[in-house]
Amino acid sequence: MVYDVIVVGVGGMGSAALWQLAQRGKRVLGLERFDIPHAMGSSHGVTRIIRLPYHESPAYVPLLRRAYELWRDLEKASRSELLVLTGSLDASRETESPFQGALQSARLHGIEHQILSGREVNVRFPGYRLPADFAALYQPQGGFIASERAIVSHVNAAQERGAEIHAREPVLQWQAKPGGEGVVVTTDHGRYEAASLILASGAWMGELVPVLKNRALPERQVLAWLQPQQPALFAPDRFPVFNIQVDEGRYYGLPVYEVPGFKFGRYHHLGESGPVDSIRREPDSRDETLLRSFAEKYFPLGSGPTMALRSCFFTNTPDEHFIVDFHPEHPQVILASPCSGHGYKFCSVMGEILADLAIDRRTRHDIGFLGLDRLA
Ligand SMILES: Cc1cc2nc3c(=O)[nH]c(=O)nc-3n(C[C@H](O)[C@H](O)[C@H](O)COP(=O)(O)OP(=O)(O)OC[C@H]3O[C@@H](n4cnc5c(N)ncnc54)[C@H](O)[C@@H]3O)c2cc1C
Repeated sequence: MVYDVIVVGVGGMGSAALWQLAQRGKRVLGLERFDIPHAMGSSHGVTRIIRLPYHESPAYVPLLRRAYELWRDLEKASRSELLVLTGSLDASRETESPFQGALQSARLHGIEHQILSGREVNVRFPGYRLPADFAALYQPQGGFIASERAIVSHVNAAQERGAEIHAREPVLQWQAKPGGEGVVVTTDHGRYEAASLILASGAWMGELVPVLKNRALPERQVLAWLQPQQPALFAPDRFPVFNIQVDEGRYYGLPVYEVPGFKFGRYHHLGESGPVDSIRREPDSRDETLLRSFAEKYFPLGSGPTMALRSCFFTNTPDEHFIVDFHPEHPQVILASPCSGHGYKFCSVMGEILADLAIDRRTRHDIGFLGLDRLA
């Protein structure tokens, strides 16, 4: 059988693309090397933050607005809770980001927000203990996505619309047919043909696309869940998700949800990058000590016994913006994924964009700033 589109990687981005393509009546095949879902890539650990006044760049805000709509659509289609609003806090010294970046995005795009001092944050949200002179931007639509459940929801919804999805079937290689028409994909089970190919293989992008090898670098991250001494202060209705820059680095965190423990991590954790299969996975006492010392200082009521530690991959580009583009030599091959540790919230809209590019070779969304050319 010849498919309209083959999607390699059924994680955050790939599962969303499969749903969008299946909804448009396309014959689509998804190929995943592990299980669905699994804990070996970038999307596990129960939840991911979503926030609107985007400090990384205001250019992401229109994509975020559409992402929110599509997450709600998926909730309806799957009849499950996927997007939980808690409010978000972007906090740092007043002249620094994330506060300044979030403020710029909020002003440019007319996003509702409040500016609080660190002292005001600590009074309003008593789980926090920020430095009193910090500046924080509070935005009520911030929150989190139930990320593993969302992958399962995308897969179920895609299958209901006829998508064919194979887990435990790693793609070994792909070839573009000459003239911009068609691809052949080889796995350890067989050989498949399609008109277009979407590569959404996360931390393995460099393995499948040599041109990305030095532009999409996997990096080890570690998440911690600690038991709060006062759990009510760390519940979704009392504890906004956060991005904060402190002397010790940039950290993010989320309320207790479904598994015990207040969850948080440090961007670029210990700076361990390299070929994906060489990166160690098991968390150890060095990871735990680093993360616990942060919680003890800034979230002392949330720094009880360790409940869980888990490692995960960022896939970093040199400027930490995503790559979403056609393959430079093959317009029937679409590259998605290297998301530099902030991509999950966009998976719903990326699914729409990837389906547009695979079918129409263009999209109404402004993704020019995510092109591969900028990294030439
Ligand atoms: C600790 C941590 C915290 C994060 N926090 C946030 C956050 O709060 N908010 C946010 O927006 N983002 C966050 N991110 C980033 C976000 O999770 C990622 O950008 C997103 O999950 C990437 O999705 P993906 O589809 O590219 O990768 P994945 O979901 O990993 O999917 C890639 C898939 O491709 C499969 N694959 C690879 N090679 C092959 C092959 N050869 N054949 C078949 N299948 C293959 C993999 O097995 C995997 O399932 C975080 C990331 C980490 C690691």
